[in-house]
Amino acid sequence: MRHPVATLAVPLTGAALAHALPAVTARNTPRRLTPHLAGEGRPGGVALTFDDGPDPLGTPAVLETLAGLGWRATFFMLGSQVRQHPAIARQVVDAGHEVAVHGTVHRNHLTRTPLAVRRDIRLAVEQITGTTGVRPRWFRPPYGIFSGGTHWAARDLGLVPVLWTAWGKDWRAGPPVQIVAEVMHTLRDGGTVLLHDSDCTSRPGSWRSTVAALPLLAARVRAQGLEVRPLADHLAAPC
Ligand SMILES: [Zn+2]
Repeated sequence: MRHPVATLAVPLTGAALAHALPAVTARNTPRRLTPHLAGEGRPGGVALTFDDGPDPLGTPAVLETLAGLGWRATFFMLGSQVRQHPAIARQVVDAGHEVAVHGTVHRNHLTRTPLAVRRDIRLAVEQITGTTGVRPRWFRPPYGIFSGGTHWAARDLGLVPVLWTAWGKDWRAGPPVQIVAEVMHTLRDGGTVLLHDSDCTSRPGSWRSTVAALPLLAARVRAQGLEVRPLADHLAAPC
């Protein structure tokens, strides 16, 4: 399948590139990708995922809020962040959450060779596993963008790629109500939510808006009778 991102003709640079590309990906995710790759799981709930951590400020704040809500989530970590903040990575696991792989550095795979992509992902798996004691199962590339090398590397390393069906665009550090509105715009029963517990690729302090949005999101999700869970539960095969 040809990825829609590859058809982009508009030159994009810097921050515009960083966030315009995933927009294209996400708009096409539910229809063009397989349900599993898009993060569509069992009915009756939604998966909650956080990218770009661990962050020494954002991640503990997210963990505290999740504990108050009684939610468990999946954290797609960057190997570079885990190397800088190993204790925070371990806190995520100790709190009962799931760790997953986002790569070592946050670079678009379309700009890298397949071997470089594989090495990047392999090093991230080793960093996360060595630090937390848990070998990740799920993988999500930076910006949600796949190259041919991404698919090959993930398969070769025994990882399962998972994107998302709804996101809060929380990197903009907008009002929490706006983050929740963005999520609810496309969130359906069985969907997967993307948020960020780190501002390492976002506006500084953006995680504060994310943290403030979580209780508001809880009210909306509960009103629909949906539970919130990590991907391991969400994508489990029905009994
Ligand atoms: Zn990211």
